[in-house]
Order: sequence, then C-alpha cells, then structure tokens
Amino acid sequence: MSFTEVIEDISGEKSTGLGVGHFVTTLKTYRNGDDEVVATQRWRTLRFRPKAAEKPTGLRPRPALNADNAFWFEAAKAHRLVIQRCTACGTLRHPTGPMCGQCRSLEWDTVDASGRGHVYSFVVNHHPQIPGFEYPLVVATVELDEGTRLIANMTGIAPEDVEVGMAVELDWIDADPDLTLPAFRPATLEEH
Ligand SMILES: [Zn+2]
Repeated sequence: MSFTEVIEDISGEKSTGLGVGHFVTTLKTYRNGDDEVVATQRWRTLRFRPKAAEKPTGLRPRPALNADNAFWFEAAKAHRLVIQRCTACGTLRHPTGPMCGQCRSLEWDTVDASGRGHVYSFVVNHHPQIPGFEYPLVVATVELDEGTRLIANMTGIAPEDVEVGMAVELDWIDADPDLTLPAFRPATLEEH
C-alpha cells in the first residue's frame, strides 16, 4: 500500500469569511501492493491567513478562578507566593485543590514559599502568539525548595540561556491591575 499526492491547482487570492487565502486542490492516489490504483481522493482546502481578533485586549488571559484556587491568586496580588498545606498531615500541594492527596483531609492552610528553587523543565514558546505576552516566551516548571512545582514565566534571562537545573528565585509580573503572577529569575550568586 502506498500513495502519492500532487497539487493540482492553487486558486488566486480569495477573501472568505475565515480570512484571505488560496484554495488548494490536491489529488491523492492510493495503490496496492501490485501497484494498481485502488482509490483516488481529491481535496480542496482553503489555506488562509486568520482574520485579526475582533477586539485584541492586549491583556493576559484571566485565570479561571474558583473556590479552590482564588486564595492563591489573591496572595499573588500581594506578592506572596503561598503553598497550600494539609493541616492534618502537613503535606504541601500545588496546584491547589480541596483535598489532600495523601490523607484525604479537607482541612488546609498555607505557608509562604521561600521563593527559591530550580528549573525542573521548560519550553520556549514561539507560536501561537497571544496578545499580552512577549515572545519568545519561556514557560518553566519550577521546583521550589519546599518540593512543590509550579508553572511560571522567567524574567531577566534570554530564552537561550535557560537551563534545566539552574537555581532561580522569585520575581513578580504585575501584568495589569487585576493580575499579578509569580515569575522566576536566575538566582543571585549569594548562596542561601
Ligand atoms: Zn494530608
């Protein structure tokens, strides 16, 4: 079984409801093991440039707040990085949630993180580009010294210089009046 695909036609530029683009017609020809044609398939696809968003706000997307995570974002507004702690067994957890994964207790409080940790993993996002962010955008999984991990952007470093394992310390992104998020920058040389 094999197939070949050829481009039969590319239309001139067309304006459509989806955006401006070209209709591309392709023909796929399927052959069996004896090299006999068993099927053909013609596709006409619109390849288009998406229209700009109606109202680009320029603001970062809002987190989906609920009863189980609002406290964490409220603390962030005050530049406090908190970690949820089970008051029954003391286990720290993140992301936030209603129940302890270790002992199933629903009782919890928070502790303030030291703000120190290291890069556990990261990606550098180039596309798609969403208003409110600058690209290339480093999205890191940071493991705090306390042991929990969180996803955050990095500041004060070029994307190509980020390394797994590098020591980082807490910084803050005051994105807009309603949104403050923790970020991490390379740790200063002073050892803690
Ligand atoms: Zn517990």
